[in-house]
Amino acid sequence: MTSPSSNNIDYQTLFEHSLTGTFLLDLSSKIIVAANHRCLELLDKSAEEIVNQPLSACLPEWENDLNEFQKSSVEKQYFQKDGTAIWLKINAYLLPSSNDKLVVNCQDITEIVQLKKQLGQQNKELDTYIKSNKNLENFAFAAAHDLQSPINTMASFSKFLKTSLEEEDIEEAMEYTEFINEAALNLKALVKDLLAFSRAKSTQYNPEKLNLKLMAESLVKELDFSIKKHKATVTFDNMPENFLGDKVKIRQLLQNLISNGIKFKNPNVSPIVIIDCKDNEDCWEFTIKDNGIGIEKKNFEEIFQLFRRLNNKKAYSGTGIGLALCQNIVEQHKGRIWLESEMGKGTTFFFTIPKFD
Ligand code: ADP
Repeated sequence: MTSPSSNNIDYQTLFEHSLTGTFLLDLSSKIIVAANHRCLELLDKSAEEIVNQPLSACLPEWENDLNEFQKSSVEKQYFQKDGTAIWLKINAYLLPSSNDKLVVNCQDITEIVQLKKQLGQQNKELDTYIKSNKNLENFAFAAAHDLQSPINTMASFSKFLKTSLEEEDIEEAMEYTEFINEAALNLKALVKDLLAFSRAKSTQYNPEKLNLKLMAESLVKELDFSIKKHKATVTFDNMPENFLGDKVKIRQLLQNLISNGIKFKNPNVSPIVIIDCKDNEDCWEFTIKDNGIGIEKKNFEEIFQLFRRLNNKKAYSGTGIGLALCQNIVEQHKGRIWLESEMGKGTTFFFTIPKFD
């Protein structure tokens, strides 16, 4: 066997048939002096369009990158004549035999870039899935825990009720019936709010143009009973009349925040709830300000958790689902919700909703 001596190798043929697209650039004149078949194929050019042509004419967008190509491989997008975008991995080195000829190599990495992108997307989806699974676990645990409490009450008091009836103690029996009824109503409210929560979470975000001034007017009408009962004042200002959002969800969001503003009132003080909206460049920023009991700073985050309630359950009715729902709705609209508060003075809830047009 003989090994081919370097003189026998047809470098021209090797160059022509290489699977890497290569061209040779004369550095002093910046003229491309040779290009192989794969190079013409990748750059979608004929030999006439590239060979003996200045780099500035056929690949102007590469002119300033020649140094970068020599330092390390550069990934660059390239558009062929029909608009097809491909990704090239480009590197370059000085031809050892001559110091003024640059060898520029291009490899098609379109598939790899697309796969990387796909992988990134799948990773993101996986993250969302894991997060929502965790939320679901927490949700099921919290729901079971909170539903258990009225059920336990009903189970115990119905036992007591039975004994009272056997002993014909009607007064005591009536009292136990009251407890059972209260627990049943509590359970009913919990199930109702839970249903609203899971419905809001599972129904798709369905944006449409909304007149929030009209929506706020109708909400105030709807809350009329509670407003009168608590001698409350509810005002709104600067409501956008051309707002993009999900009608049902935005209504739920405003309704929850306004109702809380009325409900968590200071004793002997008429609640005042002021709703306002600021037109920021890229988003609407809403504020719902009340003069109620306030919230301690250390609880600012946990109140958004499902079933989390801070106050005496007898003094303030509720299920602890409202703010979790509000947060979910704002997130579905790609916005943010937060609050400021001073104990005994009042709370302001803020939320932003980005404008998409
Ligand atoms: P709910 O109103 O059913 O109790 P929410 O999820 O709406 O549940 O609120 C969670 C908790 O956050 C409330 O129980 C209350 O302790 C506190 N909170 C919410 N809004 C206000 C407010 N405007 N002022 C004072 N406390 C509030």
